[in-house]
Amino acid sequence: MTASYCVVGGGVSGLVAAYRLRVAAGPDASITLFDPADRLGGVLRTERVGGQPMDVGAEAFVARRPEVPALLAELGLAGRQIGATGVRPLIYSQGRLHQMPAGTLQGIPAQPTALAGLVDEATMARIRDEPARPLSWRPGADPAVADLVGDRFGEQVVARSVDPLLAGVYAGSAASIGLRSAIPALAVALDRGARSLTDAVRDALPPPVTGSVFGAIDGGYAVLVDALVRQAGIRWVQVTVERVDRSPRGWQLTDDEGARHHADAVVLAVPAPRLARLVGDVAPRTAAAARRIAVASTALVALALPGGTPIPPQSGVLVASGEQHAREERRIPLRAKAITLSTRKWGQRGNVELVRLSYGRFGDDLARSAGDEELLTWAGQDLATAFGVNTQPVDCHVQRWIDAMPQYGPGHTALVAELRAGLPPDLAVAGAYLDGIGVPACVSSATKAAASLVTSRVAR
Ligand SMILES: Cc1cc2nc3c(=O)[nH]c(=O)nc-3n(C[C@H](O)[C@H](O)[C@H](O)COP(=O)(O)OP(=O)(O)OC[C@H]3O[C@@H](n4cnc5c(N)ncnc54)[C@H](O)[C@@H]3O)c2cc1C
Repeated sequence: MTASYCVVGGGVSGLVAAYRLRVAAGPDASITLFDPADRLGGVLRTERVGGQPMDVGAEAFVARRPEVPALLAELGLAGRQIGATGVRPLIYSQGRLHQMPAGTLQGIPAQPTALAGLVDEATMARIRDEPARPLSWRPGADPAVADLVGDRFGEQVVARSVDPLLAGVYAGSAASIGLRSAIPALAVALDRGARSLTDAVRDALPPPVTGSVFGAIDGGYAVLVDALVRQAGIRWVQVTVERVDRSPRGWQLTDDEGARHHADAVVLAVPAPRLARLVGDVAPRTAAAARRIAVASTALVALALPGGTPIPPQSGVLVASGEQHAREERRIPLRAKAITLSTRKWGQRGNVELVRLSYGRFGDDLARSAGDEELLTWAGQDLATAFGVNTQPVDCHVQRWIDAMPQYGPGHTALVAELRAGLPPDLAVAGAYLDGIGVPACVSSATKAAASLVTSRVAR
C-alpha cells in the first residue's frame, strides 16, 4: 500500500521534512502539509522592499555548515548561493559605536586587549588576572553563559560583548542561554580540564576563517521555499491542526474546521509551545518537555533608504544590553537590538540602501505591544542615533515573529533528549528548538525526522 504522511507546519523544517519524505518514499506516496499561513516558509519570508527582494525573517545561513549548500545543490540551486561582502559589524555600547572585537569566542575574549575601548580598565585588569584565579568546573556542567562569563570576566563583558551576539541569534541574552548550546567548543575545552576561562577560550577558538562565514540566496529565501514546495510534491491544506490522535491505522489529525485527516506517520514541525498543545494526550512526556522550552518574540522593520544615504561601510550594528534604557543614564536610548545594513552586507541591489532593524528580546513584550507606527518611529530615531542619518525611507515593511525564537537555556540538550524519548516511532518532530536555532540545524532536524519515519515504516 502507498504510504501516506502528514507534515504539520510549513516553515523550513516542515518543508525539508516533506521533501526528504518524497525523495525516500517515491512519487506515489501521499504527503499532505498543513499550515494556516498566507504562504509557506514560516520564518523564511521574502518581501519586496524598495523594489528589491528582501528577507524579513532569516536572511543568512552559516556557510561552513554543510546542510544548506548541500540542499541548494540537490535542488539545482547551487548557482543561487551568494557570500557576504566580508565587511564587519559594529557594536553599539555606552552611546557610541565600537569596532567588533576580533579573536573572541561569541564575544568572550582570549585576552583583555581584544575588548580595549569597549570595557573599563577595571574589567581589563580582571580579564588579565583571570588565569591566576582558581576555576572550579564540573565536567558536564551547563551554566547560563552570563553566570560563567560574569563570574570570571565581569558584567561589562557580558553586557557589551557577549549579549549583543546572543541577542542577534536568539533574541535572548547570556542570562537565558546555556553554555553548551551557545558555545559547545568552550564547554568541551572546560570539560577537558582547562585551568581558566582564558585558557578554555584559547583552546576553543577556531582558526581564522578564510572566505565568507555567512551565505544567503540570490533572490531571497523565497527561492529555496519555492523549490522545496515544487520538488516535495505536497498537497497544502491551509488550516491549523488542532488535535493529533491515535487511529487504528496510524494517526488522525483534526483541523480547526473540524475536518479529519489520516496519516500512517506524522512529522510535527511547529514551534515548541504548539507541539506541547498538540501531543499532550498522545505523547505526554514530549509535551511536558516542550512546555519547558521558553520562546522570545521579535519585530523587524525593513527600510529602503534612497541610494547614496551615508550609512557606514559595515554589515550592521549589534547593540549592548541596557542601551534601550539609556535614558535612565541621561543618554539617548537605542531601542533596536540589532541593525543589519543589508546592501552593505550582501552587496548593492538597485538604487536603494536596504536596512533591517530588529526589536524585542526575551523577557520583554516589545514585539507584541509596540504598534507599527511606533516601531517605524523608533527605527528613524535609531538610525539618527547610531549613524546621524535622518533620511526618510522610500519604502518600509514591518514584520512580527511572535514566539518564534526558542531559548536554549541551561540543560537544553538533556531536555531535547527527553522530548524525543517520549515520541512513538511513527510520530517525529522537527524544528528550531531541537538541534540549533539556525536554518542549517532546522534542515538537519527535518532530515532526521523524515529518516526516522521511513525507518519505522520499513520496520513494521
Ligand atoms: C527574525 C529572525 C531572524 C532569523 N535569522 C536567521 C538567519 O539569518 N540565519 C539562520 O540560520 N537562522 C535565522 N533565524 C532562525 C531560523 O530562521 C528559524 O529558526 C527557522 O526558520 C525556523 O523554521 P521552522 O520551520 O522550525 O519554524 P517556523 O518557520 O516558525 O515554521 C513553523 C510553521 O508552523 C506553522 N504552524 C504552527 N502551528 C501550527 C498548527 N497547529 N498547524 C499547522 N501549522 C502550524 C506556522 O504557521 C509556521 O509556518 C531567524 C529567526 C528569526 C525569527
